[in-house]
Amino acid sequence: MDYYSTKITALIEELSRLPGIGAKSAGRLAFHLIGMPQEDVDRLTDTIQKAKRTVRYCKECCTLTDSEICPICASPQRDHAQIMVVENTRDLAAYEKTGKYNGVYHVLHGAISPALGIGPADIKLKELMKRLQGDVDEVIIATNSSLEGETTAMYLSKLIKPTGIKVTRIASGVPVGGDLEYIDEVTLLRALEGRTQL
Ligand code: ZN
Repeated sequence: MDYYSTKITALIEELSRLPGIGAKSAGRLAFHLIGMPQEDVDRLTDTIQKAKRTVRYCKECCTLTDSEICPICASPQRDHAQIMVVENTRDLAAYEKTGKYNGVYHVLHGAISPALGIGPADIKLKELMKRLQGDVDEVIIATNSSLEGETTAMYLSKLIKPTGIKVTRIASGVPVGGDLEYIDEVTLLRALEGRTQL
């Protein structure tokens, strides 16, 4: 027997598809949404729709942005010959928060994982290799120190080395399996400063 209206059940189902939202949280959120004033709900759905329609990949670094080229890639103050490769936009944000990195980025949107069937063609690797045809001095690999992150780092270094461009890997001050976005700025900076050549 269905205790709720079918519309609420549908809402709970949709919400529980979101990452980190279990059935219980989805139920709580659904009832909260239903209890909200109509205008607040309209603003929320409108914001989601606008973000989804407007946000796209930067043509240079593939980070998520509102414009064709993101502000970092568009900045003449940044060192465009130094590219830090990260797994996602949240990792980019973590390094930006330190305020100490002056190069540019490349966002892969994932990591190679044979176990999950994610291969090199499934992440933004082609786009990176194309950028390396330009004027690049160093590629800093800042993928996570998870199995997938390490696999990706190894794959990248093998791919880039023949081009003669310096390839470095951030130090393993970052705990194994740790997501970059959860690590404090001091550790991030130490990892960056202690990077080693591959
Ligand atoms: Zn960019």
